Amino acid sequence: MNGNASRLTAVDSITSRAPTSVDKTEALNDIWAIDVFNLAKMEKALSKGAFESIKKTIQTGDPLELETAEEIAAAMKEWALEKGVKFFSHIFFPMTNATAEKHDAFIVTDFDGDAISKFNGSLLIKGEPDGSSFPNGGIRETNAARGYTAWDPSSPAYVKHTENGATLMIPCVFASWTGEALDKKIPLLRSNHAMNNAAQKVLSLMGEKDIAPLNSSCGAEQEYFLIDEQFANARPDLLLAGRTLFGAAPAKGQQFDDHYFGAIPSRVQVYMQDAEDQLYRLGIPAKTHHNEVAPGQFEIAPYFEAANVAADHQQLLMTVLQNTAKEHGFICLMHEKPFAGINGSGKHVNWSVGNSTQGNLLDPGHTPEENLNFLLFCGAVIRGVHKYGPLLRAVIASASNDHRLGANEAPPAILSVYLGGQLEQVFEDIQAGKLAPTDNGGDMDLGLSQIMNFKRDSGDRNRTSPFAFTGNRFEFRAVGSSQSVSGPLVAMNTMLADSLEWIADKLEAELKGGADKTAAVIIVLKELMSLHGNAVFGGDGYSAEWHEMAVKERGLKNLPTTADALPYFQDKEIINLFESTGVLSPVELESRYEIYAEQYILSIEVEAKLVIDIAKTLIYPAAISYLSNLSDTATGMKDLGIKFGNATAKTVATEADAMLTAVGKLSKAMEKESFKSTEEHMQYFAKEICYLMDEVRLHADILETEVADKLWPLPKYQEMLFIK
Ligand code: ADP
Ligand code: MG
Repeated sequence: MNGNASRLTAVDSITSRAPTSVDKTEALNDIWAIDVFNLAKMEKALSKGAFESIKKTIQTGDPLELETAEEIAAAMKEWALEKGVKFFSHIFFPMTNATAEKHDAFIVTDFDGDAISKFNGSLLIKGEPDGSSFPNGGIRETNAARGYTAWDPSSPAYVKHTENGATLMIPCVFASWTGEALDKKIPLLRSNHAMNNAAQKVLSLMGEKDIAPLNSSCGAEQEYFLIDEQFANARPDLLLAGRTLFGAAPAKGQQFDDHYFGAIPSRVQVYMQDAEDQLYRLGIPAKTHHNEVAPGQFEIAPYFEAANVAADHQQLLMTVLQNTAKEHGFICLMHEKPFAGINGSGKHVNWSVGNSTQGNLLDPGHTPEENLNFLLFCGAVIRGVHKYGPLLRAVIASASNDHRLGANEAPPAILSVYLGGQLEQVFEDIQAGKLAPTDNGGDMDLGLSQIMNFKRDSGDRNRTSPFAFTGNRFEFRAVGSSQSVSGPLVAMNTMLADSLEWIADKLEAELKGGADKTAAVIIVLKELMSLHGNAVFGGDGYSAEWHEMAVKERGLKNLPTTADALPYFQDKEIINLFESTGVLSPVELESRYEIYAEQYILSIEVEAKLVIDIAKTLIYPAAISYLSNLSDTATGMKDLGIKFGNATAKTVATEADAMLTAVGKLSKAMEKESFKSTEEHMQYFAKEICYLMDEVRLHADILETEVADKLWPLPKYQEMLFIK
């Protein structure tokens, strides 16, 4: 089917769509985690000794004996075979934002040719995929292909069902033969270690006796768009780049604010239920879902879990959402900005740290001014955001997220912390050298006898802050919807580790000098705030005044594009941070920089090629057909002696011509191949190439509003955005 025919067929068939029927009879209790080899299953299948050791490994990171691993492998295999599994796979998290899996059958044949199923401790513990095709940022030569996957017992194995069978999936780390991290899991586990070590020091200095290992937690809110698959199939830009590179603004967008939390369309409701049932089977605690701000946009948020498990579950959740969408005739778009002029999608990463003995150290309670542990941890976060703001910006940098950051819809590209009224007061008091009672919000009394009074939160929300305190955690709001949460979690854990080390040193000196605990905390935090308090900001993060004040008066960095942010991976302070905490060696960090820079350039390159192709082969021909219709009509009219205006023809001819000229400039600009450095290469794409793509689009979008609807080849915004 040619361009406009497939668009018109899509429009036609959309009206007859009905929800895909799914089996709704299963109760949560019957399906919860049934496909997961979790502690409960292990307790049943293992000897008491083996169960106690794996439990300890999961909870504290203690090493596991080979014998125990053998017993677990045997039990895991039995459990999986009973579920009809024939294959097993180490699943790992390479430097793309996707997951990787290499499937192996359990089967081996013996001398007689009989099939036996084999899976033992060593197969569980280690795999050796040819790793040469995964991004490694120059860590290895192409001929040095060996890579290892190694079992991560702290993230449970599970069974993945597909149309034609089931596979046992074993979460793993992925490293090179030389031992360097080639994935997103190794640094996450290391960052948790570093944070735990530093936190232990601070807590023991504060006189805590029994201190269980600390872990970071993550609850990620995922935004996404759903559009009908038939529309996406008629849009090469959506299929290959994940976003529309062309498209005139629809008459109705999100200006009525009527989509947010609105009634969920029934086809979407059924889709969500189906996806959530699958998530429950996989032990992923999907908790809330709702319509988001933009038409066609939705959100799902699972309940928070240990960061490492949450990160694995996040990846799995994206896969489930995308695969299930296809079964319901949708495409699930995870891109940060699929539609220009309409809100984009983020992934708010809620993060806290705690343990079983001291609880959540970011929970202030009702009287934060009396909660010294909380104040130290909260202060550590403030210092981290201030000192390592550019790192936080760099870990969320991507070609697609650049479309959100800095625009008036998502947190700006300047990293600041929002604390809320009560905590701002506490930290102001500390700067004045004291701790005093504060207003904790009190009770809410609406003056209606039938509505019960309830406790008000101590601070309002601030949706314009990239990094906001939300009651008992921080919410990193600037993360992109398609990104892995691991990068942001690594940055947050590592900056916290560094700040807690700094605090521990200062605190120890004060305590040794004879100060009591409260006095020591005030002195340390006062110094911390004088050095780093500039990152605290409670106002409107979208405003022009803040952009100016942040940079000029506060000395914060405004890094609008990935090309501006990524080079901070090579900054001395950031190299030191990762090296001193043991999270990433300089070689590993450098390789990450190279990988992200390359991904940035490649993504824009794909878009630029698509812009050229679509403009030349779909949009220009539509404009020419229309022009030819108009000129035929004009000739006919002239023959009949009827006066016929030519304004539309003129506009179409002018815009089509201007579009081709812009395409020519873009093609020429893409020929440039030699750059002095990676930075120069990225800047060229950020400035020159992106600018020229916009220029082509400008003319194409005018053409969309001029050319006859029936000739237009690409599904339009108004058709795609409103689900029927
Ligand atoms: P909102 O949109 O109001 O911010 P949601 O309910 O959509 O809230 O998402 C909040 C997320 O924060 C959920 O994933 C929730 O489990 C998570 N969360 C709650 N408490 C913590 C915590 N202490 N640490 C980390 N995440 C948390
Ligand atoms: Mg939310």
